[in-house]
Amino acid sequence: MTNPCIICVAITGSLPTKANNPAVPITVSEQIESSHEAFEAGATIVHAHVRNDDETPSSDPDKFAALKEGIEKHCPGMIIQFSTGGRSGAGKTRGGMLSLRPDMASLSVGSNNFPTRVYENPPDLVDWLAGEMLAYGVKPEIEAFDLSHILKAKHMADKGQLAGTPYVQFVMGVKNAMPVDRDVFDYYIHTVKRLFGEDAPWCAAGIGSNQLKLNEWAIAAGGHARTGLEDNVRLDRDTLAPSNAALVRRAVEICEKNNRPVARWQDARRILGLRMPEGMEKGQAA
Ligand SMILES: [Zn+2]
Repeated sequence: MTNPCIICVAITGSLPTKANNPAVPITVSEQIESSHEAFEAGATIVHAHVRNDDETPSSDPDKFAALKEGIEKHCPGMIIQFSTGGRSGAGKTRGGMLSLRPDMASLSVGSNNFPTRVYENPPDLVDWLAGEMLAYGVKPEIEAFDLSHILKAKHMADKGQLAGTPYVQFVMGVKNAMPVDRDVFDYYIHTVKRLFGEDAPWCAAGIGSNQLKLNEWAIAAGGHARTGLEDNVRLDRDTLAPSNAALVRRAVEICEKNNRPVARWQDARRILGLRMPEGMEKGQAA
């Protein structure tokens, strides 16, 4: 298999704190530094939430703007993906940063349970978020916590609510949502190919110790991989991950074992149908 593997690094998330792992980047400057290390290690998408100084989740567009500016400066070409997930804010505040025109944003298209609560994504909010992404030229990454979310993405694409081929991420191992199940994983892939075409790109994320397993499954099956401290703060049961970059390097090693080149940012932008970064000519991006 030779198609390059895009590695996405989810640097911070809404939940892990310095108490869980001191390497979790919280301030914008820590986030920029951690993204840079991960970029050098092989990650080409950075999935980002922002935090308040007391580590609680934030949806402050000014923080997102500062983060975007820093990543563009220090990691030229890296794909910036903002989270519109429900832990960072309520209702439309979840999409308040989309006018900054990041390359991508996560989009949950249905509801499900989370460990201690309902993850609410009501239809009117999903439609609004998708509309903002269309208006600002932001490519959504569809977060599939359930099979129905993949079919919902197809429905939205057919109605013109999503531009281009939907990029679906399978999320497995969130307590009370879809567990890590190989048959379901295989059926997810089958469904993406049936609905969006044999070559449609997809990726997968596993939570906690399942991160490694989902990286292995996805890379071996021709998909793309997400890693990072948002989903998992450990290298193994006894060892905290020293950095986001260390988790990226682990995914790179799995690519090597599977004879898959790690996507450069130019490859990743081509695979996902994304524009080249502002100020970079197409010719430079060969
Ligand atoms: Zn996230």
